[in-house]
Amino acid sequence: MIVIMKPNAAPQSVNAVLSFVEKHGLQTHLSQGEEVTIIGIVGDKTKLPTENLVSYKDVDRIVPVTESYKLANRKFHPEPTTVQAGSASIGPGSLTIMAGPCAVETESQLVEIAQAVKEAGATILRGGAYKPRTSPYSFQGLEEEGLRYMKEAGKAFGLATICEVVSQEAIEAAVKYVDMIQIGARNMQNFILLKEAGRSGLPVLLKRGLCATIDEWLNAAEYIIAEGNPNVVLCERGIRTYETSTRNTLDLSAIPVLRERTHLPIIADPSHSTGSYRYVPPMAKAAVAAGADGLMVEVHNNPACALSDGPQSLTFKKFARLTSELKPLCALFGRE
Ligand code: PEP
Ligand code: MN
Repeated sequence: MIVIMKPNAAPQSVNAVLSFVEKHGLQTHLSQGEEVTIIGIVGDKTKLPTENLVSYKDVDRIVPVTESYKLANRKFHPEPTTVQAGSASIGPGSLTIMAGPCAVETESQLVEIAQAVKEAGATILRGGAYKPRTSPYSFQGLEEEGLRYMKEAGKAFGLATICEVVSQEAIEAAVKYVDMIQIGARNMQNFILLKEAGRSGLPVLLKRGLCATIDEWLNAAEYIIAEGNPNVVLCERGIRTYETSTRNTLDLSAIPVLRERTHLPIIADPSHSTGSYRYVPPMAKAAVAAGADGLMVEVHNNPACALSDGPQSLTFKKFARLTSELKPLCALFGRE
């Protein structure tokens, strides 16, 4: 449930409510907006005499939160959240571009790509060092060596860095090298991994599971936040449907639905959702129009020879054209 305080409630009134709730063994989450203060309550409601709470000074009303996710819920936290990842921020008012290869292949490949994506306007370098491949015989990633290259390339070009993690071991390595970790579609409901990501202290990009509903996805985000890590960004990366013309189906409507239900930033991945470089630019633009706070785009120096996801990777030239075409769109939709 949430307690909505009257506009301009006195700080003493807010503190009185907080201590009343905490005294009954429940957790409180304070959200202080410009005008109104909201206190989110998590825990066993039967232990809380709400009839006493309503008579507290400056309490306006109590509203039940019926959804199972609370901390990710917009009702708990009406203001949109901005997540900081190293030097980059993801949230309202801007369009954050994360770009880079599907997999880190060599040091020189990554340096070349980092330079190109930086010049074209990306602020976060992406690159996989632990690759969850469909076939066990496909390239599995450079692991810690790849993370090291990510750190060096990020530093050389002033880019924040993000890398997918697939295990506790990968998280432990990632905290030493990158600014943000990614939980991939295949692990969206790996609850143990979600909790470990929550405890890592790094911001987390949580991709939507291949067959996950929005509700399941928000509950996955809740697992991370419940560990004390509020820095979660959601990434719509396409879901599996009956359509085979594209790799997945980019669920653009998830963006406004999420906007209503959560305060967390939302980005879109037009690369994994379409599976073809030809469809990446139109879907990137559509995602911006739908309200995305950012994009994750795969870019490669030589897509034809990429060790993974070459067919959906943009060349440097195509990526630069896309970012320049996004500029007027961003202006139209009030994003930097
Ligand atoms: C990726 O970003 O490299 C990736 C594997 O994405 P997804 O989990 O969306 O398939
Ligand atoms: Mn990929």
